[in-house]
Amino acid sequence: MRNFIYIISLLLLSNSAHATLNVFACEPEWAALTQQLAGDKASIYTATAALQDPHQVQARPSLIAKARSAQLLVCTGAELEVGWMPVVLQESANSRIQPGSSGHFEAAKYVTMLEVPTRLDRASGDVHAARNPHIQTDARNFLPIAEALGKRLIELDPANAAYYQQRLASFTQQWRAAIAKWEKQAAPLKGISVIVHHKGFPYLNDWLGLVEVAELEPKPGMEPSAAYLGKVLNDLQQHPARMVLRAAYQSERPSEWIAERAHVPAVMLPYTVGGTQQATDLFALFDDTIARLLAGLK
Ligand SMILES: [Zn+2]
Repeated sequence: MRNFIYIISLLLLSNSAHATLNVFACEPEWAALTQQLAGDKASIYTATAALQDPHQVQARPSLIAKARSAQLLVCTGAELEVGWMPVVLQESANSRIQPGSSGHFEAAKYVTMLEVPTRLDRASGDVHAARNPHIQTDARNFLPIAEALGKRLIELDPANAAYYQQRLASFTQQWRAAIAKWEKQAAPLKGISVIVHHKGFPYLNDWLGLVEVAELEPKPGMEPSAAYLGKVLNDLQQHPARMVLRAAYQSERPSEWIAERAHVPAVMLPYTVGGTQQATDLFALFDDTIARLLAGLK
């Protein structure tokens, strides 16, 4: 019996020595960033898949169960998760991850938001009523977010502070070098006019200098009718575009329809880690995004 207790206490000790932070990441890009910064100190669950519309997520029991044991929630915020997160938070009854607590991290709080309306108009069914939440398409945004997330990891797990500090410094250095490389590669994209399916790329456009001349959705989150697509096609005569962009999770039909008639390529972008076969991590996400945009110019 004494031996048994001894073994059990050893097991408990070794468990606590290798304790990992339970992280609940809302989208794949934040799971990938947390992985970069926390290495083997975190066990990360990703709530949504790359090929899922981030505006159309259901508060499934499996999400609630995962939220229950989470010590840190890493999400976009800016109302991207407004359709499911409030229910998950409430049902999880987990005080560690509620808004305002150190286990609640919203990436959008650390970057400059685009498309901030002067007047809120939710009645119209616009899923971007508050501001545009798709901040992950500008690589520069990952720098302040990584810094804030690194600090948060240290706050939650001070015993490993030096480890997180070192990983943040290393990520920041590599990421800055990658941004310089991407900006150089993307130089031919500056000033190029594009049509987008969903208003999912204002941050990418802002970064690389692409110019959005039309959207295929009448309002963000509203799929276009044939009549509406006809109108967009007609308007393109005044404002021609070089390509039609869509995120990997979206149907190819509206952009293929326009591409065929306007004689421009339809370009699918990974949008997040896992969106394409090539976008295997954060670095590959932007390598692939820029390669696909450049291919669209040819
Ligand atoms: Zn959106």
